[in-house]
Amino acid sequence: MPPLILRILSSSVVIARRAGEVIRDVLRGGDLGVVEKGVNDPQTEADRRAQRCIVSSLKYQYPQVTVVAEEELEPSPADDKDRVDGFEEEVLRAQCPETLTNVKETDITVWVDPLDGTAEFTAGGYLDHVTVLIGIAVGSQPIAGVVYQPFYKSESDLGRTLWGMVGLGVHGDFHPTTPTKRRTIASTRSHNTKIATAAVEAMQPDVVLAVGGSGYKCLLVLEGHASAYVFAHPGTKKWDTCAPNALLHAVGGHMCDVKGNLFEYHCGIAHINHLGVLATMADVDWYVGKIPPEVSEILSKNMPNE
Ligand code: AMP
Ligand code: MG
Ligand code: MG
Repeated sequence: MPPLILRILSSSVVIARRAGEVIRDVLRGGDLGVVEKGVNDPQTEADRRAQRCIVSSLKYQYPQVTVVAEEELEPSPADDKDRVDGFEEEVLRAQCPETLTNVKETDITVWVDPLDGTAEFTAGGYLDHVTVLIGIAVGSQPIAGVVYQPFYKSESDLGRTLWGMVGLGVHGDFHPTTPTKRRTIASTRSHNTKIATAAVEAMQPDVVLAVGGSGYKCLLVLEGHASAYVFAHPGTKKWDTCAPNALLHAVGGHMCDVKGNLFEYHCGIAHINHLGVLATMADVDWYVGKIPPEVSEILSKNMPNE
């Protein structure tokens, strides 16, 4: 039997694809059922149904794993409606890194963003910014993950999967290119603030890509279309960053807050990334050094004692 960590990643690939089908299904149905969770923070029926699918599938197969998911949902008979099992064989065939062969269910926290980029999903016109994020942490470390893009058009199928594990790299429908030479900074499309803009401008960008979703911005970095993802504002949560963080680490990239601190992902950690997000394949110290001190100060001052 393959080690647990490979099985759970393998299951997560199958589950993320099913969640993607659910998202496409809700969009086709035409009634998004939008609920405002807060200012500029929508939730749709696709977020709710995709989360029920992911959480119920993971808990059914791996009952002792801690699953932390974005949406607050009451238990419902709909929980099991979209449950799937099964494995992605390509993952099971991988050679498990030695240090991960004995990981137990109780060592694992899975961070779930059932639909990252909800603002883009509801806006229309930006559907390729939407991703399903399943991030697997062992202890505090982001070790593996799946990023599924439900509206990516390939010839054979609608949607694509990237999966990765530290020690194994990133696989699936992954197309790295020679990194862009022009300094291209990916940042938020729908949650801009004064300090977030100040941080992007401090990077002396040649190009700014205002795009949705933490998952999508990390895809741009992973595949060489953006030099860095810069967001100096407390907006993203651990479910936004865990899966992309694992994939970046798997190919030698970096993710940290604007002060250069790495993120931790054990289940007791604060959900909000109070000190923002910075992700890049190279020159992480240069980017951290360029963050204006007043931006770091404002973010630090507003940090609650959690
Ligand atoms: P964005 O880069 O603005 O698309 O955001 C990436 C992720 O962080 C999405 O899941 C957003 O919902 C979340 N996020 C960013 N800023 C905020 C905010 N001000 N309030 C709520 N969620 C946010
Ligand atoms: Mg999100
Ligand atoms: Mg979400």
